[in-house]
Amino acid sequence: MIRANNPELKSWLFIEHGSDFPIQNIPFGIFKPKNQANPRAGTRLGNFVIDLSVIAALGYFKDEGISSKEVFSQNTLNQFISLGKPIWRSVRDKLSVIFDLENREFWNTPDFREEVVYKIQDVEMLMPVSVGDYTDFYSSIEHATNVGKMFRDAENPLLPNWKHIPVGYHGRSSSIVISGTNIHRPMGQILQGNEDTPVFSQSRSLDFELEMAFISGKSTQLGQRISIREASNSIFGLVLFNDLSARDIQRWEYVPLGPFLSKSFGSIISPWIVTLDALEPFKTKGPKQDVAVLPYLQFEEPANYDIHLDVFLKPENGHEDRICRSNFKYMYWNMFQQLAHQTVGGCNINVGDIYGSGTISGPTPDSFGSMLELSWKGTKPILLSDGSERKFLEDNDTVIFRGFAEKNGIRIGFGEVVTKIIPPLK
Ligand code: MN
Repeated sequence: MIRANNPELKSWLFIEHGSDFPIQNIPFGIFKPKNQANPRAGTRLGNFVIDLSVIAALGYFKDEGISSKEVFSQNTLNQFISLGKPIWRSVRDKLSVIFDLENREFWNTPDFREEVVYKIQDVEMLMPVSVGDYTDFYSSIEHATNVGKMFRDAENPLLPNWKHIPVGYHGRSSSIVISGTNIHRPMGQILQGNEDTPVFSQSRSLDFELEMAFISGKSTQLGQRISIREASNSIFGLVLFNDLSARDIQRWEYVPLGPFLSKSFGSIISPWIVTLDALEPFKTKGPKQDVAVLPYLQFEEPANYDIHLDVFLKPENGHEDRICRSNFKYMYWNMFQQLAHQTVGGCNINVGDIYGSGTISGPTPDSFGSMLELSWKGTKPILLSDGSERKFLEDNDTVIFRGFAEKNGIRIGFGEVVTKIIPPLK
């Protein structure tokens, strides 16, 4: 067993029962103390943020070949991630030793606490990685089926390639931003009613897509393929991912080359990257792939993860209503297949690239991962507790995703990704 995953471990820091961030999690992120200028790497325990640059400067990561604070004093985790999986695992294990209740070396050392431990409200979370490239997959069979039923053929909703290829497209990385960033409603070309020429307008069907995203932990050369077997060593971890989409702009622009401006005005990630190591106990079988896949996509079960996902909508001055409850385990194509497929043609990847799962819909109507599906193309408005209805997002609505895995009393969570929709710039 990975040391840091030991369910018996407890921390000398106070961690509330039910926190997303027990000592068994130890995610990685980039933060900045509110009264200081410099970003640095951190981990989170309960409602505390731990400064890894100070721990490194004190010499505690010498065994990991990290002898100064430099690697943790960057404004991204890319340099740390490029050190490779044995180092991520070892640093996480070391942190679980340092913060172990049994370890008296630190918890009564005031200097250590003063310099290393911040309260969550005293820091600002920043983008954890520099994102070179962004791919968005389309890997939930329920989502692809729902969209196919709505826009193509109710009898044959999946296109012939769907069960053979983890379908994806190359997205825009510059507009991937951190939780808490407000996003302007996009402007664009839209067809109205039955007309055949477009108008320039703000989007009237602005949607979220409930996704998770994995972050690559490795850089490769052109022509190099990552096999399914190697894929788990090439993924650093996972975040929650809100891939905002303007359905009206999308409908007009997406033929024949796929989405463009309808999905490049803001995609938002949660700040803490939870490692695959931390999620190891929550591996589970995915849906049965009932069409045989080519050898490079064949994998060993279990390759999915049981991660509960909730979406909340909060109107301006209102309170949060949960409008969707889904699970990452519903993914038909798993991450390892996605990464093997991404590289099979010889595409090189880089540390810090982001791979969206695609909208994660489950089998029941309350588990659909977009408003397009929840409101069934606007025909079944979503009723909120304040009495108002939504077909799509309105200005000043806030969308909140939360996600966690839980088993045998251990909860490994992602925190949240929060996105407020604001009007277009004048
Ligand atoms: Mn998407």
